Amino acid sequence: MERQQKLQILKDIININSTNGHEEQVANYLQKLLAECNIQSEKVQYDTDRASLVSEVGASGGRVLAFSGHMDVVDAGDTSKWTFPPFEATESEGKIYGRGSTDMKAGLAAMVIAMIELHEEKTKLNGKIKLLATVGEEVGELGARQLTQEGYADDLDGMIIGEPSGHQIVYAHKGSINYTVKSTGKNAHSSTPELGVNAIDNLLLFYNEVEKFAKSVDVTNDILGGFIHNVTVIDGGNQVNSIPEKAQLQGNIRSIPEMDNETVKQVLVKIVNELNKQENVKLELIFDYDKQPVFSDKNSSLVNVAKSVAKDIIKEDIPLLGLSGTTDAAEFTKAKKAFPVIIFGPGNETPHQVNENVSIDNYLEMVDVYKRIAVEFLG
Ligand SMILES: [Zn+2]
Repeated sequence: MERQQKLQILKDIININSTNGHEEQVANYLQKLLAECNIQSEKVQYDTDRASLVSEVGASGGRVLAFSGHMDVVDAGDTSKWTFPPFEATESEGKIYGRGSTDMKAGLAAMVIAMIELHEEKTKLNGKIKLLATVGEEVGELGARQLTQEGYADDLDGMIIGEPSGHQIVYAHKGSINYTVKSTGKNAHSSTPELGVNAIDNLLLFYNEVEKFAKSVDVTNDILGGFIHNVTVIDGGNQVNSIPEKAQLQGNIRSIPEMDNETVKQVLVKIVNELNKQENVKLELIFDYDKQPVFSDKNSSLVNVAKSVAKDIIKEDIPLLGLSGTTDAAEFTKAKKAFPVIIFGPGNETPHQVNENVSIDNYLEMVDVYKRIAVEFLG
């Protein structure tokens, strides 16, 4: 494919405003592009105007390597602060600017182009490349969850997530849990508190216990670092001279394999159950978000192949590292069979920011990197 066409594809999909939705328009664009090259694909409907896209190239019988990227982007924020309009991709000084350029339409486009080129060049693949382009990654990995539940990840032997990592390969990230605790008490005049139940006091019983637990966790992961817990939202009461009837808080946890989601959730449930045994304490715990940590073997063939291919093409040593943020891998790794995952994609430190951009050189080189990783990994 010509350089100009590769740039145009990226610009075209940046110009589709897929802010927390409308991913089907991106899926339609990619489906048409693949069809023009005689590659079939399947849309998996999530909701109105929201569909993930699945496509395969290669031969049955060997390994299956997934190329995965999300099609949604985050809000552009204050558009007056952008040098170029966020949904009119603009080329300037070796970069393409626009919302989603780095996170992660460049990675997605590079993966699709790599598949097309391998197909058109009739490269012999001892296995398949499977494209998993998802909806709703930024709001809870919705598409990845649906695709995993429907079995689309059950045949995978490896996965590359094209999230922006620049010249680094990420092979582990923390998990994430969001939870809410609601405390119910009883209103009374503040001059006669004995007639009521103070929901804030009871909520703070939970707060103290959960903080005590979080501080007691002394395991760390060599790559990912420590377990993190923070109460991040708290509200309660409605009037200064009334005993509050309601109060609630929300907390966020960043989990590691040594203190994983199931263990943490059990501890929180236990704290609430114990406190609820006390007179007048009525707490309710809700888990709003539950993404497990991802930790691939550093010596897996996928990591080794990616490292050597990247070094050869990019002409730099590519470091391996872990990262705090979660990705679609937190859902895909719930598939029936375990497989290694790497996060390796074009981009820089501008995701979710004003003037988000991607280096054209980095974008184009990743097309070649993905092609070679696929050929070598599939063997
Ligand atoms: Zn992303």
